[in-house]
Amino acid sequence: MTSLWLAGTEEPTDDPWAPELGVQDAVIGAGLTGLVTAVLLARAGRQVTVIEARYPGAVATGNTTAKLSLLQGSHLSALRRYHSAETARAYVAANTAGQEWLLQYCAAHGVVVQRRPAYSYATTPDGVMTLRRELDHTHEAGLATEWVDDLALPFETLAGVRLADQAQFDPVQVLAALRAELRSWGGRLHHRIRVTGVRARRPCIVQTEAGELRADRVVLATGIPILDRGLYFALMEPQRSYAISFRGVSNAPTGMYLSVDQPTRSLRTAPRPDGTEQLLVGGNGHGVGRIRSELGQVEDLREWSHRHFPGAQETHWWSAQDYAPVDAMPVVGAVPGTGGRVFAATGYAKWGMTNAAGAALRLAAQLLGDETPAWGKALERRAPGPAVLARTGMVNAKVGAHATTGWLRTGASSRRTPPEGAGLVARSAAGPVGVSTVDGATCAVSAVCPHLGGVVAWNDAEKSWDCPLHGSRFAPDGSVLEGPATSPLKPRS
Ligand SMILES: Cc1cc2nc3c(=O)[nH]c(=O)nc-3n(C[C@H](O)[C@H](O)[C@H](O)COP(=O)(O)OP(=O)(O)OC[C@H]3O[C@@H](n4cnc5c(N)ncnc54)[C@H](O)[C@@H]3O)c2cc1C
Repeated sequence: MTSLWLAGTEEPTDDPWAPELGVQDAVIGAGLTGLVTAVLLARAGRQVTVIEARYPGAVATGNTTAKLSLLQGSHLSALRRYHSAETARAYVAANTAGQEWLLQYCAAHGVVVQRRPAYSYATTPDGVMTLRRELDHTHEAGLATEWVDDLALPFETLAGVRLADQAQFDPVQVLAALRAELRSWGGRLHHRIRVTGVRARRPCIVQTEAGELRADRVVLATGIPILDRGLYFALMEPQRSYAISFRGVSNAPTGMYLSVDQPTRSLRTAPRPDGTEQLLVGGNGHGVGRIRSELGQVEDLREWSHRHFPGAQETHWWSAQDYAPVDAMPVVGAVPGTGGRVFAATGYAKWGMTNAAGAALRLAAQLLGDETPAWGKALERRAPGPAVLARTGMVNAKVGAHATTGWLRTGASSRRTPPEGAGLVARSAAGPVGVSTVDGATCAVSAVCPHLGGVVAWNDAEKSWDCPLHGSRFAPDGSVLEGPATSPLKPRS
């Protein structure tokens, strides 16, 4: 479905594809990470080309809730389970740098920003304990958070933590400004070209569906890196969640809110060009492809919103995914084994507005040979400690179990034509086959993800095939939508 931000926008024009020219820096992916990185490199005089598989903002950035906040639910407590206080301070410093850069950028480029306090809040006694820990960890990391007893929300809360003077914006407006600036420096942007591989040679060879491009250096700003080298996929959990926007809400809260209890609830408002103010409600996150009905999650969020915000009239709903690192710390820097020629950034755990800009600052400094910020080292690909290894083992056991159960489950369905909007995985002589019916067209594709062989599951909200292993997603006809996979599900008769 289309987000409030992307609705009504037209796909921007792109530049003629001329791979024979080669380039100094190729940035793969036109989300916030890719476009900020590309602008920083282009400003420094580098020849930059951005290659985007779909269109700018198509994946996470155009479908975010776009809170630009240093208070991030209970994220610092999660991070402190695996890292020292010093690393937590580096994480906050990276996010602060990203936030400051974006605020200055928006001010200089006429992108409207609303300054708002951010709140993490609890609705259960366990949540209150989580909040107390978060308060301590945010203080330890130097943030001026405060305890709040009454949040004045239209449902019962027990307590909150508040950080003043945070921000929110429309992410698609930010991407538009970045695209314009990139072009003003001579940078090029290509849409609808999927990169299928990168050979880390001197120069690198960027393999795409439209031919090969040579580049001195390559930045993978693809959400999760598309190269398996570095094993990023094994360190990340793809997490999907939902958002709905409403108009006509008279009791919309003025700040930005996120519950620390499950299921999560995220709230903010958004001024629209027609002068109205909309309420955004988000939440109900879960592992990609690991839930019986995604549509059920949307219905649940809708019902909750109508219960607490009477009179709310829905304008848009959508869903998206982001990658949560097992140790809660993003990974930004050179991809191992590429001779310092290929770089990547991932693992923002749904806090990618500040993290993406921070990552871009770090990557640009590395590529330009500038002094890297003091916090940059903490973001590099690191050797996992015992706690991280234990958690990685748990996550990958869940992944393995899902792959196996996925295969076994294929025995359960016999092949038939599913009703409109539905999909099923059936057994066939050639392995599991995914059959779906969307807009009256029935398609049959291999149900085995070409990335690492997981059996895909039908997403009844987005009408897509989603892989529970590492989050690759495919359209009903098998074409790639997102994730680490770079080739489609094969057609089946
Ligand atoms: C529901 C939801 C709500 C969120 N809310 C917030 C929030 O309030 N605040 C916050 O800070 N963060 C939030 N986040 C997180 C934030 O949106 C993301 O972390 C951030 O947008 C990631 O940006 P990115 O540029 O790294 O990735 P993306 O925006 O996903 O961009 C990656 C791009 O790479 C392209 N690509 C991928 N593979 C290829 C390929 N092979 N070839 C070419 N191109 C390719 C994709 O098409 C895509 O356009 C939220 C995330 C979700 C899912």
